[in-house]
Amino acid sequence: MKQNTEEQSKSENLASNGLVVRLGERQLVSVPDEALSPADEAIYNNIVVSTLNAVYNWGRRNSLWPVGMGLACCAIEFIGTQASRYDLARFGSEAVRPSPRQSDLMIVSGTVTKKMAPVLRRIYDQMAEPRYVIAMGACACSGGPFVGSYNVVMGVDEILPVDVYVPGCPPRPEALIEGIMAMQRKIDKQRVLLQYVRGDK
Ligand code: SF4
Repeated sequence: MKQNTEEQSKSENLASNGLVVRLGERQLVSVPDEALSPADEAIYNNIVVSTLNAVYNWGRRNSLWPVGMGLACCAIEFIGTQASRYDLARFGSEAVRPSPRQSDLMIVSGTVTKKMAPVLRRIYDQMAEPRYVIAMGACACSGGPFVGSYNVVMGVDEILPVDVYVPGCPPRPEALIEGIMAMQRKIDKQRVLLQYVRGDK
């Protein structure tokens, strides 16, 4: 019991002296050199304990690069999310790519017309895997105010596998950020490396 208390206070002491980084379920502690014995130093300088999956997912969740896919008014909110007030760069997603081959996230922001649908699908097919889709706004989720219209697709999930739905007409930037964070939580739970080893689809 006493040993546990001592270990806890030592760990709190280390944490207060340095930077605590959470990586998946693991906790990494960075401490100043003078607080380390030579043996501790050898360990802290050379060993990081985690899982390959956690490191891989950590990298992917914090570098989701959206392909430019503004289709209507919701795109203005998407642009606003990128700008300085909301600063999507905090999530590593500020780099909107003009090429699907450099993107792994499609944020469908706007009305999907039947004329645009095949183009949307082609761009999605050209994106890097693993790839994700966020349906932003009522139009992309379900047709929105154009429900029943002859020329509008009643939700982009009729042509693409949607991971996260962000409701609203239009959704505010806070809502889109919540959607991206939901996407990140979903990525945290994935075991993509295992899927590749097994050849799962
Ligand atoms: S959901 Fe509303 S704001 Fe967004 S594209 Fe449709 S009509 Fe425009």
